[in-house]
Amino acid sequence: MSPDVYARTMPEPLVDRFARVHRDLRVSLTDRCSLRCTYCMPEQGNEWLARQSILTVDEIVEVATVAAAAGVTTFRLTGGEPLLRTDIVDIVRRLSALRAPSGPAQIAMTTNGIRLPDVLPDLVAAGLKRLNISLDTIDRDRFARLTRRDRLSDVLDGVRAARDSGLRPLKINAVAMRGVNDDELADLVAFAVANDAEMRFIEQMPLDAGHTWDRSTMVTREEILEALSQRWELAPVPGRGGAPAEQWRLDGGPHVVGVIASVTAPFCGACDRMRLTADGQLRNCLFSNDEYDLLPVLRSGEPGPDRSDEIDRVLRNCVAGKRAGHAIDDPGFLQPARGMNAIGG
Ligand code: SAM
Ligand code: SF4
Repeated sequence: MSPDVYARTMPEPLVDRFARVHRDLRVSLTDRCSLRCTYCMPEQGNEWLARQSILTVDEIVEVATVAAAAGVTTFRLTGGEPLLRTDIVDIVRRLSALRAPSGPAQIAMTTNGIRLPDVLPDLVAAGLKRLNISLDTIDRDRFARLTRRDRLSDVLDGVRAARDSGLRPLKINAVAMRGVNDDELADLVAFAVANDAEMRFIEQMPLDAGHTWDRSTMVTREEILEALSQRWELAPVPGRGGAPAEQWRLDGGPHVVGVIASVTAPFCGACDRMRLTADGQLRNCLFSNDEYDLLPVLRSGEPGPDRSDEIDRVLRNCVAGKRAGHAIDDPGFLQPARGMNAIGG
């Protein structure tokens, strides 16, 4: 029996050439968004994905079912803004019914928080287990400049709804930016602590639609830690595993802060993530330019064992093509053609 046939009839874990086992699928539900963060989307003139190419809930569940059988346990819903999908509760309900060989699927979401007050109770009832809210500043004018929308109060309502939902751990993510919010990092941590959330800072990555990223303007992990240590004593939390964030305990207390240093301290060696774009392209890395197209598979024939085998084959090709690292520092590095909103963060 060829290895290909074996893989289809008896799912093996999704292991790449570097022995990394893939257990996490980031599912982008749309490239549309209610904000226009400067590091992610252009102010206008975005080339939207064609509506007819956006995966339906049935198509997402079909891919996720095959992925779960191959050992994927975490499905993180993202975008664009995932809460713009009117069928978001249905998506969460159906994905949370999936099981991997090692146990039930865990459904997580990354959102800008707008609309959470309307939908969070239904999402929790549908099985949502983890929530990350993105918030780069708690200053209204800055927020409006940075996101090109005056909607800080809507996001703050979303944070309150998340706090009151009891969904834990609750995480708040900020991209640290020089001259934009780098004087506010400690205040953001205090805000997160007051909302019983973990603040996490992300190094800015070359994924903006305008291709304006410049390493010299990026606030590094070291600078973030230096700024926070002015207010707290930081003690590293051991046992990071494959998680993107390194954590530090604040003043020996219960609260922690995280830093995702994708650029200066990449964690590619432990990466267990794959991505599915809203238009059905599988990706093995945020920074890769290779995509593995599931749309023709999903839109030919009927759902059933043959199509599941075909989806499984595409998943395995994608994992097999994964490189050792993102190579942002290589002289030949090329920023992906898609912006972050169209890949899925
Ligand atoms: N709209 C949702 C949100 O903002 O949370 C989900 C999608 S957004 C693309 C996911 C995450 O990617 C956000 O936390 C955002 O801050 C982060 N992000 C976007 N562009 C980035 C960049 N160039 N560098 C680092 N993080 C980025
Ligand atoms: Fe929208 Fe999230 Fe991108 Fe901001 S980071 S523009 S909220 S997708």
